[in-house]
Amino acid sequence: MTNQKQTKLGAQNSILSAARVRRLSPEQLGISAPGQQSDQIDDSDQGEKLHSAAVDAVGDDEDGIGAAVLTSDETLHTGIPIKGEGWGTHAIELAVSKAVSNGADGISSVAVYSVDGQSGLCGRCLQALADTRDGEVTIEVLSSEGFENSFELTDLTPWVSQS
Ligand SMILES: [Zn+2]
Repeated sequence: MTNQKQTKLGAQNSILSAARVRRLSPEQLGISAPGQQSDQIDDSDQGEKLHSAAVDAVGDDEDGIGAAVLTSDETLHTGIPIKGEGWGTHAIELAVSKAVSNGADGISSVAVYSVDGQSGLCGRCLQALADTRDGEVTIEVLSSEGFENSFELTDLTPWVSQS
């Protein structure tokens, strides 16, 4: 850049200009500050993301089970069942474990996918959610047909207090 150009730019500096300046907010430019992104995701978007994360977690396994949990700091964590010799983890358990190990806040909602919409949710998984929840937890059950059902955790776990 030459000195001449710099002078010219200075002369057009809108801050020094008496002309009206159109001010754009970060929102108008589609820019969000760190920590504000969640404000721009409405509940339906979050539900969509949670659902697709649970389905995507399954990958190519046609009979697979996938789970996704959303935490109160609005991070998503996914899980699949893992079977080993003498050990194993369920999809929801793994998603919860990943959330906890990543330092996420309490679980606020969970989606679990299986082809028939009947698998992937058991007492162990419910206890994992009860132990790591942030208030009430909505559990959504998905099948290859799409959304099947949703429950509140405390309706399924009467031993857990509502608060
Ligand atoms: Zn389970």
